[in-house]
Amino acid sequence: MDDWNTRTKLIHAGTRRSQYGEVAEAIFLTQGFVYDTAEQAEARFVEAGPDEFIYARYGNPTVKMFEDRIAALEGAEDAFATASGMAAVNGALTSMLKAGDHVVSARALFGSCLYILEDVLCRFGVEVTFVDGTDLAAWKAALRPDTKAVFFETMSNPTLEVVNLPAVAELAHAVGATVIVDNVFATPVFSRAIEQGADVVVYSATKHIDGQGRALGGVILGTEAFIRKTVEPYLKHTGGSMSPFTAWIMLKGMETLDLRVRAQAQTAQVMAEALQGDPRLARVIYPGLPDHPQHALASAMLEKGGTVLALDLAGGQAAAFRFLNALKIMTISNNLGDAKSIVTHPATTTHQRLDEQVRAELGITPGLVRVSLGIEDTGDLIADVKQALDAV
Ligand SMILES: *Cc1c(COP(=O)(O)O)cnc(C)c1O
Repeated sequence: MDDWNTRTKLIHAGTRRSQYGEVAEAIFLTQGFVYDTAEQAEARFVEAGPDEFIYARYGNPTVKMFEDRIAALEGAEDAFATASGMAAVNGALTSMLKAGDHVVSARALFGSCLYILEDVLCRFGVEVTFVDGTDLAAWKAALRPDTKAVFFETMSNPTLEVVNLPAVAELAHAVGATVIVDNVFATPVFSRAIEQGADVVVYSATKHIDGQGRALGGVILGTEAFIRKTVEPYLKHTGGSMSPFTAWIMLKGMETLDLRVRAQAQTAQVMAEALQGDPRLARVIYPGLPDHPQHALASAMLEKGGTVLALDLAGGQAAAFRFLNALKIMTISNNLGDAKSIVTHPATTTHQRLDEQVRAELGITPGLVRVSLGIEDTGDLIADVKQALDAV
């Protein structure tokens, strides 16, 4: 299996067939498992073998298939699947940190990630220093001998800043800190985060992995020791495990993940190029465009610019709202990575909680619209955006 290429792994890695030899992965929709004898139950609670399960909060064959498949894709030793992306972010951080620890985090974060780092961890005595994720000197200055972890989104939401993962990892490892990355925007297709220095990779599977807007899910990837000795005890006892039905949805999503994400990124690139220079747009932000501040880094680290672009309408919030309301194919919502193209106005929705000055620092202007490209026809999508710009 190790020498399979991505598309083969996405279809076959981790498959476990029951005695019936089913073609599609079976959904083991059961909370628990029976034992032949009392002695067998006792032995399993001491140590469960690779094909032995106890209780769905601890593990389940369908969930295990998903964990093994994504671990194979990422080149990670092991994985733990979670109920949502946030259960994964929280589980990765909380399972390894204790009072007195120090964390360095990029400031440009998804709102709920920021809540964990800014509001939750400090209540348990963890100190967090926030830095500009694109500034290596700032990372270096913030790291200390007692820094236990660094946290950042490889590509930030919604302004698509790209963090130099190999360089930050090298700085973090020099002080013995664990590198935890939220890799949603980089996607499992374009990122090789573990190879590039991440110790722990976290995904919201709700995004590209399901990719069809059906279920919340998440996953934490890392070494076998970190997943089994640190993450698993925390998550199996605190209740953040993925349901078997969700795991089945994610397994089906993975079958088409590479095809979908490549098509989405291709449309994003073509659309960004088509819109560049349009006078109604103050900025077209896309890491695949040569004028993006981290274009060279994104090309080297992620291969493509991703499936999301950001448009800053010159007319501010009023223009952004008129644009959103005029779209005919793209829908206004807040998911991303979906087969359907989705547009979001971050300043009034996902990033509403931030105060205006922080939003300004992060580049989340009143005119900014996040566009998550789906797999509809590229020409139809560009025509939709152009007619909506005309309506502005
Ligand atoms: C969506 C998202 C999350 C949270 O995932 P959920 O599945 O919604 O809990 C975390 N980080 C990033 C970057 C996201 O985009």
